[in-house]
Amino acid sequence: MKSYRKELWFETKERRELINITPDIAECLKASGIKEGLLLCNAMHITASVFINDDESGLHQDFETWLEGLAPEKPYSRYLHNGFEDNADAHLKRTIMGREVVVAITGGKLDFGPWEQIFYGEFDGRRRKRVLVKIIGE
Ligand code: ZN
Repeated sequence: MKSYRKELWFETKERRELINITPDIAECLKASGIKEGLLLCNAMHITASVFINDDESGLHQDFETWLEGLAPEKPYSRYLHNGFEDNADAHLKRTIMGREVVVAITGGKLDFGPWEQIFYGEFDGRRRKRVLVKIIGE
């Protein structure tokens, strides 16, 4: 069995951003040489997500509005976690949006359904943070 590991680094300009990382993941798959197997991609930080959804700007705004409704960033004082930090909302948003995705590798390609794309969801950005890509197979 072959195995491949890579860390991808991101530093967003805004506190919250969604980045389509599908091209980076496809690059990792190509570099791995693996044709049949499984790919895991996870955020290595507890205030960021990796998830699969549609690359459509209206939907991305809908995610922002929905998440702000569930766990508003402000006032910071509404959260017990914000004694020394201001990112309680980011922890909650990350939990809802998920830590990782697993994608089947078939014939050397990401075996997606229609419109599926992989996103990095940043909820407490403006600093360097990582995503892990692990691929196993033949
Ligand atoms: Zn925190």
